Amino acid sequence: MKKSRFSPETYIQGILNGDRMLLSRAITLVESTLEEDQTLAGQVMEGILPFSGNSIRIGITGVPGVGKSTFIEKFGGLIVESNHKLAVLAVDPSSQQSHGSILGDKTRMESLASDKRAYIRPSPAGKALGGLSAKTREAMLLCEAAGFDVILIETVGVGQSETAVRGMVDFFLLLMLAGAGDELQGIKKGIIEMCDALVINKADGSNLEAAKLAMRDYANALHLFQAKESGWTPKVMTCSGLEGRGLAKIWNVVEEYRNVMQLNGFWQQNRQSQRIQWFDDHIRYLLESKFYQNPGVKLRLSEVLPGVQSGNLSPIKQAEELVQGFLNRAK
Ligand code: GDP
Repeated sequence: MKKSRFSPETYIQGILNGDRMLLSRAITLVESTLEEDQTLAGQVMEGILPFSGNSIRIGITGVPGVGKSTFIEKFGGLIVESNHKLAVLAVDPSSQQSHGSILGDKTRMESLASDKRAYIRPSPAGKALGGLSAKTREAMLLCEAAGFDVILIETVGVGQSETAVRGMVDFFLLLMLAGAGDELQGIKKGIIEMCDALVINKADGSNLEAAKLAMRDYANALHLFQAKESGWTPKVMTCSGLEGRGLAKIWNVVEEYRNVMQLNGFWQQNRQSQRIQWFDDHIRYLLESKFYQNPGVKLRLSEVLPGVQSGNLSPIKQAEELVQGFLNRAK
């Protein structure tokens, strides 16, 4: 075992005791692609799983520049002031290209980052989206076991990561700008359908009237969408992350959502189907990584790739043979 690793029990006990250093180390372990780390991470996850689940999980999305970090800084402040322990996680597929990460910048969320009641975890960079969201889910469960009872998962509103995050949260919040136009903001109809609250941000100064107008437009437009399975009508609101206005109302809506959904059973039902989705995702993830890590597959892939690329070999036939070869070796 490497020097920088602990026993599964050390991680588990540390996390259950709310030790942030061990929590961070466990998340790093979960994010590691090394096989020995994966085994250890699996043992830690098994140990903490019975102590997870007791939080409100909130997804927050919006295009870069909509004001997410400013919003989370203030909204997070309000949450911890209401006697909650808050963890902020990020999913950022764009960091694959830029090697940056949306929470990586130290200047973001400064006051929240130094607040003992909050825990901020930057996005792991350079991973495939499937792996990335799996890691985020595990990081969320680790945070819950460490006693954080509100989890904010931030994602950039560019499309791919929203569906993955929707599949692991209870409440999904979309931040928008007035007057930017849906297309300009890269907001697809699908994302609007996913959200439980649509909030026009930067409702301040000369932008206030435009924000109110946009709010009315969206409230009208939302009537055109099909009713949600939960029976919840998405709330349309305005706020100013910068001035901190409208944030208490948003938190009230989140709490109202939880109360109503826990009563009508949708909260539990949603968590159940998310568990199935997690199970399903994990099977897919395991199959894929075992397949691509298999030495025989690696060798054969390197042999046929040039032919597939040039068009001399059929992608369908080669894929079938590769998978069949893998299955035969596994017998
Ligand atoms: P992110 O990329 O979505 O995380 O956005 P940031 O929080 O970094 O904000 C982008 C820019 O918008 C910054 O210059 C902020 O100062 C500004 N901004 C953020 N929130 C507000 C707000 O509520 N009102 C106004 N007027 N500006 C804001």
